[in-house]
Amino acid sequence: MKIKLDRTLCDGFGICAKYAPEHFPLDDWGYASLAGSPVIAPADEPAVTRALLDCPVHAITTLPDRTGPAGDPAATRTGSPPAAGSGERKSLP
Ligand code: SF4
Repeated sequence: MKIKLDRTLCDGFGICAKYAPEHFPLDDWGYASLAGSPVIAPADEPAVTRALLDCPVHAITTLPDRTGPAGDPAATRTGSPPAAGSGERKSLP
């Protein structure tokens, strides 16, 4: 899971910091920032997802996570294209 926090949308409700304070520290005015990596460890995903869903202004969103299982971005781009004739598209008669 990879996330983004749009600080221009944040209204400082602090809900995200309540659920995942290690990921969303608040500044002196109560506005959140994203601490550390935007890639969230699986163990933290439930709390971060709760923060994402409860943010009243939808300032926290998910991004496509293009890393492979070993964290190698190229891992998801490799592989063979489907063989000719094995695709789902079929010609109409
Ligand atoms: S819950 Fe949303 S609006 Fe509230 S501090 Fe976090 S990001 Fe900002």
